Amino acid sequence: ADVYGIRNWGAGYFDINDNGDVVVTPILSNRKVSVSIPEVIAGIKERGFDMPVLLRIENILDSQISLLHESFRAAIKKLDYKGKFRGVYPIKVNQQEQVVDEVTRYGQRFHHGLEAGSKAELIAALAMLRDKEACLVCNGYKDQEFIDLGLFATKMGYKLFFVLEMPSELDLIMSRAAYLNIRPLLGVRLKLATQAGGHWTESGGDRSIFGLNTSQLVEVVDSLKERGMLDCLQLLHYHLGSQIPNIRDIRSAALEASRIYAELVKEGVKMGYLDLGGGLAVDYDGSHTNFTNSRNYSLEEYCADIIETVMETMENAGVDHHPTIITESGRALVAYYSVLLFNILDVSRFEAAPVPETLPEDTPEHLVNLLDVYKSLTLKNMQECYNDAMFYRDEIRTGFRHGTMSLRERALGENIFWSIITRIAKDARRLKHVPNDLKDIHVALSDIYYANFSVFQSVPDAWAIDHLFPIMPVHRLNDIPSRQGILADITCDCDGKIDKFIDLHGVKHTLPLHELNGEEYYLGVFLVGAYQETLGDLHNLMGDTNVVTIRVHDDGSYDFVRELEGDTVADVLDYVEYEPKVLLEQFRRTAEEAVRDQLITATERREIMEAYEAGMRGYTYFER
Ligand code: PLP
Repeated sequence: ADVYGIRNWGAGYFDINDNGDVVVTPILSNRKVSVSIPEVIAGIKERGFDMPVLLRIENILDSQISLLHESFRAAIKKLDYKGKFRGVYPIKVNQQEQVVDEVTRYGQRFHHGLEAGSKAELIAALAMLRDKEACLVCNGYKDQEFIDLGLFATKMGYKLFFVLEMPSELDLIMSRAAYLNIRPLLGVRLKLATQAGGHWTESGGDRSIFGLNTSQLVEVVDSLKERGMLDCLQLLHYHLGSQIPNIRDIRSAALEASRIYAELVKEGVKMGYLDLGGGLAVDYDGSHTNFTNSRNYSLEEYCADIIETVMETMENAGVDHHPTIITESGRALVAYYSVLLFNILDVSRFEAAPVPETLPEDTPEHLVNLLDVYKSLTLKNMQECYNDAMFYRDEIRTGFRHGTMSLRERALGENIFWSIITRIAKDARRLKHVPNDLKDIHVALSDIYYANFSVFQSVPDAWAIDHLFPIMPVHRLNDIPSRQGILADITCDCDGKIDKFIDLHGVKHTLPLHELNGEEYYLGVFLVGAYQETLGDLHNLMGDTNVVTIRVHDDGSYDFVRELEGDTVADVLDYVEYEPKVLLEQFRRTAEEAVRDQLITATERREIMEAYEAGMRGYTYFER
């Protein structure tokens, strides 16, 4: 059985083979090939890289780019739309050079462009984008340096749009354009009235911090008219928010923006481009619903609905020249292509010790009562026993605080309490109607699997906004996972854990896992290609992980095409302004003092210094 729902969320890119291993299954030359992740892990280790590793599969990125373009192409053909589709990749979604390089290199065949939201992103984009037919959309605040750079790029032949985020940007752009004698291509970001559901949708709606409302839009049009520069305005942009789960919201936003576009054309603006921003969601939980972590539409439906909406609106308004549709999909393009792989270091199990038959004569009353609860527990009185157990446990704790209970008595009480809970958790499943209090009781008893990664560094959205990613073991999948666990990372922060997992009906609080068997146990967090890498931070000084990129060939063989070593301890110390050399010198002095004070010998000092230096050069994660 597909315990982890890989066939629901894997989008055909991931599956399980006969050995019970997770395989990557890109389609190459019309044939599905299969690459075993445990084999890739073995290869990574042979090459000297430790876990955790961020594994990128280049073919998946290529495939997602192709799918987006082919789906729009198909919708355009089917509906006989007269305009084109152009995609732009928003650099913010994953700015890593390897990612932007692959998007621009592979995307060139579709003239896939870039979206830059800051000066730094523009500077990266100008060097990475070599296709002059591709669009370069500039959102975000723009200072003079940004604008001048964009204007020179326009002169060099880039199809670069300055998207006005605020009315005040117009004056600066126009005055620099006049000064440099360059006609810019302009776009306007709209504040739509349409608002969508989902985590990231604050960026849409009337109260969104970005964009122009309709009266500001009209002012911009008038101002451009006065300057004789109305032909510069060619693009209308909106961004409803990322990860829009409901297709209805996508449709209503496209309709509202198309109406505005058509009105602008009626006003005599030439226009040409309608940029619908990002928002194309990823079905992280595989439920195909309008849950936050999912989407209730397919890519085909997304493309068809957009094309149809824009086309109908244009036809109704008598706009013959259908706009080139731009989307700024980021998440949908890159999420699938990275998997975080890590090993489990240890497990803490929750198991109560055997409960004694009798208690000594002088045992405090609450403890005696608690044992009676344990003995009287049946299927019929479960709720009552649960209530009593909670009551007596609290009384025992209070007694301990007041000095009427000893440490041993308290420990015995805790043990009896957990024995009761364990039995309830086991037996509650047999009840026809499980009382509310007892429904999730098994969660309190789940194991804790200590995982060699940092939630804050590698999956920050899991911590920050309870975003759910598919997580599962990447091997041993022919064995039924007999344990239920949560994951604790190695940051020693009480938030450094994952205790919410995907479920077709919402969220589940434990993950089925295998017993450790003395060999390495590897898990993967899938679909982490979007947003996680640069949002991640150095909490507890856990640095960037190693990154390995593979490219799969038609015959199923694969190459390690790129490798990036993760941060060393010296690297992360350097980020936070320590100078590794100075630290070494300071520690050497302390060690020498210890020799002088005869706490260690000179030979021991050498060993200690070697360990210190090796630590400095080492990976920030647990090394075996
Ligand atoms: N465009 C803009 C202006 C954005 O702010 C974002 C991110 O939120 C995107 C595009 C990318 O959105 P998504 O990752 O949902 O495709």
